[in-house]
Amino acid sequence: MPAFSQDFLNFLNADSKDSPSLILTNATTITFPSHVDLESRMYNKEAPAGQPPIPLTRRASKRYGVPGMSEGMGYEDDLKWMGRALELAWKAALRGEVPVGAVLLSPEGEVLSEAGNLRETLTSTLGHAELAAIHRASKKVGSWRLEDCTLYVTLEPCVMCAGAIQQARIGRLVYGARDPKGGAVQSLYRVLEDPRLNHQVEVTAGILEKECAEVLSDFFQNRRDEIKTEKSQKKYRRRASVVVVHQGQILGFHAVDPTSQAKYFFIPGGGIENGESPVMTAERETFEETGYKIRVLEDSAFHRKYDFFWNGKVHHCDTVFYLGVLDEEWHPVRKVRDADYHRGVAWIELKTIDQVFAYDSNILWAVRKLVKLARRQRS
Ligand SMILES: [Zn+2]
Repeated sequence: MPAFSQDFLNFLNADSKDSPSLILTNATTITFPSHVDLESRMYNKEAPAGQPPIPLTRRASKRYGVPGMSEGMGYEDDLKWMGRALELAWKAALRGEVPVGAVLLSPEGEVLSEAGNLRETLTSTLGHAELAAIHRASKKVGSWRLEDCTLYVTLEPCVMCAGAIQQARIGRLVYGARDPKGGAVQSLYRVLEDPRLNHQVEVTAGILEKECAEVLSDFFQNRRDEIKTEKSQKKYRRRASVVVVHQGQILGFHAVDPTSQAKYFFIPGGGIENGESPVMTAERETFEETGYKIRVLEDSAFHRKYDFFWNGKVHHCDTVFYLGVLDEEWHPVRKVRDADYHRGVAWIELKTIDQVFAYDSNILWAVRKLVKLARRQRS
């Protein structure tokens, strides 16, 4: 076996901790029971003479013509191995992965590999349980061909995995729950039985279906609950912002995000300081950020809670938006001294607001609402 990096070995072994025989090291020499001539199985398609009877998949038994073995793996075996795949799915859930588990058996019914979903762990689309199991099994047997092997997986494989199962020439697929939104075996596509492809796979569906579906629905319910708690525990910063409309233009300033260097146009606004009312904040911030004295129209106020990504982190904003009017004669923009990200005061045309504020749907919504109000007040 070639020398693998520790990271890669860890990847191969991620689900093998409980099965020491499956843990691969750089010193591992992989041996099979002496009565199994794997190579002849794989390539010559003939069982060596004088072999003891061993359980074969249906396809294999047809191929080898072993009498009395036409059913291959029985229902009991399917239950047992799907149970193991389910354990791996639970383990994946504990790692924060969408819980899907897979077990791949050799034509002789021995475990070649096991895997849970590793997508988050590896930050990789290729981390689906089926792909990991296929990958590990191929490493173990030293061949990409996994003919007459049986793959157990708790969820109907997706397009990518069904493709890999077909490519690996796997003999039989057994899966638990259907995936009506992404399944490529029976739900959306029927990749494994497509006669145009050079290899078809025998499929058994619905083994421990309820349990396999439950582990997924529990996981997603749990995640929704967590998100809810997170939301209710969010610390919002109370802010005030103003839309000042004057002669078909709206007041604001250009800004550059210090982290991403992305360009923004902001309406004046900021955090409500201790002892300040939102109205005071709005008027103060407008003067500091634009140099204009304004008066807010208190009746125009409304709240909005939203997250805004700025300077490398998410800011939870609870903002009071106001409509404001100039409290002095209009004058051309003056230079203001404000934060480093401030890149100049400007009046922009009202007809451009959809593009200018496209960076955040909440802010765009608030600006539109107040611009409409300004129009109504003028007429
Ligand atoms: Zn997949």
